[in-house]
Amino acid sequence: MFATLSDRLADTFKNLRGKGRLSEADIDATAREIRIALLEADVALPVVKEFVAAVKERARTEEVSGALNPAQQVIKIVHDELVTILGGEERRLRYAKSGPTVIMLAGLQGAGKTTLAAKLALWLKDQGKAPLLVACDLQRPNAVNQLQVNGGRVGVPVYAPEPGNGTGDPVAVARASIEEARRKLHDVVIVDTAGRLGVDAELMQQASDIRDAVQPDEVLFVVDAMIGQDAVVTAQAFLDGVGYDGVVLTKLDGDARGGAALSIRQVTGRPVMFASSGEKMTDFDVFYPDRMASRILD
Ligand code: GDP
Repeated sequence: MFATLSDRLADTFKNLRGKGRLSEADIDATAREIRIALLEADVALPVVKEFVAAVKERARTEEVSGALNPAQQVIKIVHDELVTILGGEERRLRYAKSGPTVIMLAGLQGAGKTTLAAKLALWLKDQGKAPLLVACDLQRPNAVNQLQVNGGRVGVPVYAPEPGNGTGDPVAVARASIEEARRKLHDVVIVDTAGRLGVDAELMQQASDIRDAVQPDEVLFVVDAMIGQDAVVTAQAFLDGVGYDGVVLTKLDGDARGGAALSIRQVTGRPVMFASSGEKMTDFDVFYPDRMASRILD
């Protein structure tokens, strides 16, 4: 995902190699190149500005540590600042103090929510949890079935309305699923909600109603990292319309430019908590800002 950005930054740093100390002109030129590299990677403009200003300020004022040459010092600064915009420390899931932990997923259709629900369930199972998947996406034909298929793949049961028995109300399904979880001793409930192709008021209202009904411990906004700047726009719309605690980036295995991944934390103020990076159920992990920054600068 970050191939072009990585190459661009590597070229920038190459220009600094062999320099004994950095002049103002070196710092300005480097800052300019980093700015272009980030803009080309589709990083949101306010994030680029803040990032470049921070790098420039530190390059000017920080003492060069004895062990590093100026080029290495700049790489270290860029690394640190990448970690900062990616969220600093990883943010772990918060579990409920009593009763089942409720995790609600929200996002656009095609973001990868249903796939993600099963991946998260598998990950939780591997941590010794007993998750229950809940199918509240009753808009898209086949969404319930898809969740059931994915649930089957990871060996996690799916709570879904029975076809034709009049329980087509996603809020009622969500509410009933919590009771089911208590009865069957599930300690985590993952609620998959409906997505639309675009943001609309009805979608937001339904997600808000489900949220109010199940009082989730975590609302996670699932977003396709391939959609670039649109990811940031959608993230803002869901923040205003539903609200959420954390973000899950999907399709990080794609070849998009990576701007969404680099912008979303700063723009929304919400941490990226998980990353999904492929079609396999195990292509999923906690999002580690430090590792991501290292990957970009590799
Ligand atoms: P939903 O509409 O949000 O529930 O999205 P789906 O879970 O149905 O995913 C939409 C498509 O994206 C499916 O074809 C998935 O196989 C695919 N997909 C989901 N996550 C990833 C991922 O991390 N990487 C790749 N390459 N494809 C993914």
